[in-house]
Amino acid sequence: MAIWNLGSINADMVYTMPHLPAAGETLAALRLDRFLGGKGANMSVAATRAGSEVHHIGAVGPDGVWAIERLKAYGAGTDHVSQVETPTGHAIIAVEPEGENQIILFPGANRVLNSEQLEQALAQANACDILVMQNETNLQAEAAQLGRRMGLRVCYAAAPFDADAVQAVLPYLDFLILNEVEAQQLQLATGKTPGELGVKDVIITLGSKGARHIDGETGAVLDVPALPVTAVDTTGAGDTFTGYVLSGLDQGLAMAEAMAQASRAAALMVTRHGTADVIPELAEVQAARF
Ligand code: ATP
Repeated sequence: MAIWNLGSINADMVYTMPHLPAAGETLAALRLDRFLGGKGANMSVAATRAGSEVHHIGAVGPDGVWAIERLKAYGAGTDHVSQVETPTGHAIIAVEPEGENQIILFPGANRVLNSEQLEQALAQANACDILVMQNETNLQAEAAQLGRRMGLRVCYAAAPFDADAVQAVLPYLDFLILNEVEAQQLQLATGKTPGELGVKDVIITLGSKGARHIDGETGAVLDVPALPVTAVDTTGAGDTFTGYVLSGLDQGLAMAEAMAQASRAAALMVTRHGTADVIPELAEVQAARF
């Protein structure tokens, strides 16, 4: 079994600032840190750390070779990450001493993937492998249709939320994962509750309140509590949760077990600063005492 992740790869450029720059102001940063980011890369790292074979499908620009190397070093397959002329996707994140931030997001190479690349990648997949996507690349609907046709288990993490993007993939999904706000937005857009979307498995993450699974066939609801931790940075909690759930299912765990493991991984994650680089390993997740 393997997980195929059509996903974004970003450079998160974090500038420590004396204060957030005002319109027209030029202000020197005190420090610059560059992290591997993007929801796609985060999920690939999470699922790899959880023990799955992961193949990332994505693109970087001429400035993104380091990101491919980083993904590879973390154990994700990068044979289907192409190098294109468009600059690598990046987030320019200004952070002031109180923790308030300002973010400029440039999707760049993440939005110029081509169909041929996608088809070549998925031609290597086996029926019952998992295909996951988020809303930070192009080709989502095409990938979902192709995945469904090939008998893959198709999963969509509906973030950043766009009602049209979710509705374009909805008919091809086996699995939908979204947070509480995204779930409300989707219900507003479709007029349907999560159980009425026609998707077999829907997970709604609820931050410090845990996560809920809704069985789209039986309507059964399963609540998995969050673990009691002191959160210092919730960035990447959702991506860690998703990567771990999918990896658990990929490795044959039942939904309740996969969610419980994901909940432990995400709880550890919120106790750490950073994103892909600090996602916990399965052994740490299993050994953690809460
Ligand atoms: P993000 O966009 O910040 O990555 P999200 O909004 O997609 O996150 P959340 O619902 O905030 O996702 O969190 C995902 C999961 O992480 C939750 O279901 C829960 O298991 C865990 N989690 C989040 N916040 C906390 C917390 N404060 N304490 C314990 N676990 C948490």
